[in-house]
Amino acid sequence: MNDIKIRIQRVVDKDKKCVPNFDSGLGFGRHFSDHMFLMEYVDGSWRNLRVEPYHNLSFYPSTMIFHYGQGIFEGMKAYRRKDDLYLFRPRKNLERMNNSAKRMVMPTFDSEQILDAIKLLVCMDREWIPETAGAALYIRPTMVATEPCLGVRPSSSYLFFVIVGPVGAYYAGGFNPVDIYVCQNYVRAVPGGVGEAKTMGNYAASLLAQKEGQTYGCNQVLWLDGLKRRYIEEVGAMNIFVRFQDELATPALTGSILPGITRDSVLQIAKDWGIRVTERSIAIDEVIEGIESGKVVEIFGVGTAAVISPIGRLVFGEQRYQVADGKTGDLSQRLFDYITSLQLGLVPDKFGFVEKIDYGAFAAYF
Ligand SMILES: *Cc1c(COP(=O)(O)O)cnc(C)c1O
Repeated sequence: MNDIKIRIQRVVDKDKKCVPNFDSGLGFGRHFSDHMFLMEYVDGSWRNLRVEPYHNLSFYPSTMIFHYGQGIFEGMKAYRRKDDLYLFRPRKNLERMNNSAKRMVMPTFDSEQILDAIKLLVCMDREWIPETAGAALYIRPTMVATEPCLGVRPSSSYLFFVIVGPVGAYYAGGFNPVDIYVCQNYVRAVPGGVGEAKTMGNYAASLLAQKEGQTYGCNQVLWLDGLKRRYIEEVGAMNIFVRFQDELATPALTGSILPGITRDSVLQIAKDWGIRVTERSIAIDEVIEGIESGKVVEIFGVGTAAVISPIGRLVFGEQRYQVADGKTGDLSQRLFDYITSLQLGLVPDKFGFVEKIDYGAFAAYF
């Protein structure tokens, strides 16, 4: 651990919040812990690194983030088994956030220092980490433009903060395949655009398609490429895998796809299991034909929130196509079980994905 230079202001007892009951419907993104990390970028450097009680932020209405959307974020999780706390490939998230920052002309930061700040925050608020199966502490690092000025140019100042909160198992009702709407009217990203950055506007831009999908009974959409609307790209805010008999395929990272860490982990694990994995263009027609001929045996989304999300049916135009028997595929189940066991330190970490937090080292700071 680096020597941390982070000021700590602990929440006073009377302001401590009640930790929610972990066994009853935590949901996702509804609860936040007692503390947050913050720092500001002013005059060319990050300063004032600190942990404070979770609190409101105050900005002038002219603040750039409200107008021009120069903002980025990350999503990662901390897991707990008894007294042990774990992170899953956290450096990949921070590296990706720095890439998002470059794309949005925002300042980069020292990943190791922020990783220490995240570990410190997780240790301080460890009571907020559920131990129930599938639940975890969600970690949301965020960076926004803070200069109060109406002008389309990069802001001169920024706020970086990290908030954390318990989230429930994604599958409250069990690990069940979902219906997905293949979106033909709208696209998520185009080559040369900002699809590979985790930047705020991408999610606002996805909502109308999601709403359209809901009229077909689907909560997520399958995005096609922005140019020809012919190749599959992502599903909701997850990467997608299609298993064609003995080939496990995922769209190649061509610039309009968010480079998911779960995606990368699934590729490495499947390869290690002796499965033939490919990163290539996958036409929606190839998927539909494969579903009809039985060549497509599984389709699943992958991302930090759900880990693996099996897809039971595709809604394409007015047609519904059931993937195989519409149930969770063998490989989806095997990947889900393996990755969630890795995250809890239950199986040997042969890939070096899991980082145990040295609680003793951080506890010395608070
Ligand atoms: C975050 C995200 C993913 C998944 O990335 P993970 O690192 O696996 O959580 C995929 N697609 C989009 C659009 C995302 O925002």
